Amino acid sequence: MAKYTESKCRLCRREGAKLFLKGERCFKGVCAFEKRPVAPGQHGMSRKKVSEYGLQLREKQKCKRIYGVLEGQFRKYYEKADRMKGITGENMLSLLERRLDNVIFRMGIGSSRSQARQLVTHAHFTVNGRNVNIASYQVKVGDVIAVKETKKDNKYFAEIKQMKVGVMPKWLEFDPETLTGKVIALPVRDDIDIQIAEHMIIELYSK
Ligand code: SF4
Repeated sequence: MAKYTESKCRLCRREGAKLFLKGERCFKGVCAFEKRPVAPGQHGMSRKKVSEYGLQLREKQKCKRIYGVLEGQFRKYYEKADRMKGITGENMLSLLERRLDNVIFRMGIGSSRSQARQLVTHAHFTVNGRNVNIASYQVKVGDVIAVKETKKDNKYFAEIKQMKVGVMPKWLEFDPETLTGKVIALPVRDDIDIQIAEHMIIELYSK
């Protein structure tokens, strides 16, 4: 599978925003974007007027990078969202939120989406009792996501059991003691805390 190999902090600098791609490091005083909030490269400091197309493109790149999705797959989310009832941009964000790697991240089991993705692909979870190791797996209302019984005693998950539940999105439940979570609703735009102008992405793809 293709993946980003560029420095994650460089992506934040490129997008001009903290994308929180490195878990706990993003909250410590070592954030590269806070230290140097300009685009990487020789012309990073230059202030060019950005065209409407450029703004739309940057918004799309930002969203892809936050969720760790490559272009082909991202476009499929748009196409699926476009076929759904409702507002395409909001549908697209809802589909991205319902990826299993994002759900694991939202439950606080992974400190970043990329760590959560690694945990998923290393086959640590079940959905409704069945093994699932596909990061893009779409959860639905009523799904129960749990750490596999055979993995619950490993050091990493033993520490998760001790943690206090952080702020949980309204559409999810998580019990650290049993390492089990549940999807209690579909995520809507108000539940999604990322700063994205999704309508600009839709305008870009609609051209
Ligand atoms: Fe982005 Fe986190 Fe790196 Fe800061 S530390 S630049 S928020 S990935």
